[in-house]
Amino acid sequence: MDEVEQLKEDIRQFQCQNTFCKGNVPGSYVVDSKMLFVGSQPSPLSDMQEPFTGKDKDIFDNLLTFLNLSRKTVNITNIIKCCCPKLQGTAIENYQRVWQPILIRELDMIQPKVVVSFTDYFPEAALEKYGSKYYRRRHPASLFYKYGSEEEKLDQYLNTFRDVDIEIE
Ligand SMILES: [Zn+2]
Repeated sequence: MDEVEQLKEDIRQFQCQNTFCKGNVPGSYVVDSKMLFVGSQPSPLSDMQEPFTGKDKDIFDNLLTFLNLSRKTVNITNIIKCCCPKLQGTAIENYQRVWQPILIRELDMIQPKVVVSFTDYFPEAALEKYGSKYYRRRHPASLFYKYGSEEEKLDQYLNTFRDVDIEIE
């Protein structure tokens, strides 16, 4: 089993103690790519196969297109891999004990040069050793909670990524 498959397997094996937890979603890895997108945790509406496949799928895919990227050219993960109902209690505990070490394994495997994070929980200091550029942006799902027309909201949102430098030396 190669490193990617082993990592996915280890993520799938974890048993969350929260009885409402729907299961674990590993990251989507393209290890040749030095670009990494990081969300907070899988949506209960996701396909349980890869990140950003719930309600936020279209917005996220639009964002990749906007940046001239695609799911085949970037790494995508969540800091918390299990689908707990809320980012509190068990989820936070799991994050510190289980998911943060997994996240470090992901970073070591990918060695990202550019990281776009949609969560404040991302351990930015862990990027020092890779010299990554770090961008913290609003989560794609946040568009569901803001007023205004769908199109306008998406345009405004995408514009906040204009300065993301995806040129990787
Ligand atoms: Zn869970």
